[in-house]
Amino acid sequence: MATHRTTMEFCWTCDSEQPHRRLGEAEEDALKERLGRVSVSEFRLCVNVLDPDTGKQCRNLRTGWDKKPFTPPIKLPVIE
Ligand SMILES: [Zn+2]
Repeated sequence: MATHRTTMEFCWTCDSEQPHRRLGEAEEDALKERLGRVSVSEFRLCVNVLDPDTGKQCRNLRTGWDKKPFTPPIKLPVIE
């Protein structure tokens, strides 16, 4: 998997500062379809590992300026 630059930002489902990265192309496409939008470039995904055994990540979405853009939160599924 390609490495992504991460930035530390607050994740409100983790309730702490966590590394976030931009979405990959397939993830952007999936989110565009889900939200019915043409652009989702402002979104960041929380890559905090919730389960070290499986490597499962939080994947909660936020934007660069809004830590809680969705109620309830959207956690992007892993795109195969
Ligand atoms: Zn998180």
